[in-house]
Amino acid sequence: MKFDGPGDGWAWCELGHRHWGLYGAAGLLLRHRSADGEDWVLMQHRSWWSHHGDTWGLLGGARTPGESAEQAAAREAWEEAGLAAAEYAVTGSYLDDHRGWSYTTVLAHAEKLVSVTARTEESAEVRWVRQDDLPTLPLHPGFADTWPAVAALL
Ligand SMILES: [Zn+2]
Repeated sequence: MKFDGPGDGWAWCELGHRHWGLYGAAGLLLRHRSADGEDWVLMQHRSWWSHHGDTWGLLGGARTPGESAEQAAAREAWEEAGLAAAEYAVTGSYLDDHRGWSYTTVLAHAEKLVSVTARTEESAEVRWVRQDDLPTLPLHPGFADTWPAVAALL
């Protein structure tokens, strides 16, 4: 997420929440299943000062006008963690529609635990987390809300 792009700004949805992203937002849920059958998810530990700081969520951010959710998630993953789209395959998406604002979780699969680096100050850390360990982390409230529905699609 940057703070000076054409989609950047706060929006109110019809459910009465304030959200980041004038045209909605998207995030990348990248998963890897290791040879021992363990499932891993790529997570961003958000800097303490960011919105919902010091929580864990997905790489992602505001969509720009005319940008698809898949494009936005890929762009943000690149900007935030140097993750190239060639490193994964998109397998689907989950739309959380708040009426007037929406968040799309783009589901993707990686063949390995791709090495990534936090490249913006918004991330304290970006790393692979065991899927089973997710409930032990302080999760971003938006991610926590959609996770059960998203997990059911995996
Ligand atoms: Zn909302």
